[in-house]
Amino acid sequence: MHICFIIAMEAEAASLIEKFSLDEVTHFASGLPMWAWSGLQGADQISVVVNGKDADYNLDLIGTQAATLSTHLAINHFKPDMIISAGTAGAFQSKGANIGDVYLSYPHVVFHDRRVDIPGWDKMGVGRFPVYDVREMALTLKLKTGVVTTGNSLDMPETDEATIRAIGGEIKEMEAAAVAWVASLHKVPMFCVKSVTDLVDSAHPTHEQFLSNLRLAVESLTEVCLKVVGYILVHKP
Ligand code: SAH
Repeated sequence: MHICFIIAMEAEAASLIEKFSLDEVTHFASGLPMWAWSGLQGADQISVVVNGKDADYNLDLIGTQAATLSTHLAINHFKPDMIISAGTAGAFQSKGANIGDVYLSYPHVVFHDRRVDIPGWDKMGVGRFPVYDVREMALTLKLKTGVVTTGNSLDMPETDEATIRAIGGEIKEMEAAAVAWVASLHKVPMFCVKSVTDLVDSAHPTHEQFLSNLRLAVESLTEVCLKVVGYILVHKP
């Protein structure tokens, strides 16, 4: 089978690419910022697609537009059997999260900042994209599970916090729901692996926590992604 990771930032992807000894795919998205790496693990294939850099700022393209494009390109190019949105995220210390904890998404991925207060449109804004059933995997690998919520900002204004709490969101990040939407259009099973860089309900500013905890969170992200691939390849869906 073919498992494809969609990752926003180079720093989140680099050690995974190295651990799987993946090769860069030439002609993946010529003219576009996205990059891909791929390689065989026995009879199976692992790929990593990274959003790439903004041409004006030379910074990683984070957020939902880039994630949408990456996922569509990845599915067109690789025709994967499974998509994994992997990366860093914020979480709630009030719900027991710690820096470096890794969560699997379950039972769905939602948007927390698409407010349209009209019946029907309100539900479509939130999304509620179902994800691959990771419950057995989470038990076996001793990982937490939770609702992953996506928006296009790193901060958490009160209105977003109220939405996240009402939805029961445990993990806050900027790409997963976009990846889930594209995967659902193509009917490719999808779930998330998210490592906590920051506690969104702590007194410390999120961006400071993000920078000081990035290395630790990426180490645990990489370790868990390797275990997740091992698990999926043994228990093929
Ligand atoms: N400011 C960082 C880069 C952006 S952080 C830097 O200087 O390097 C935002 C990225 O991390 C996004 O890809 C998002 O998915 C994830 N992320 C981590 N913590 C987050 C949080 N609390 N809220 C939203 N996104 C978060």
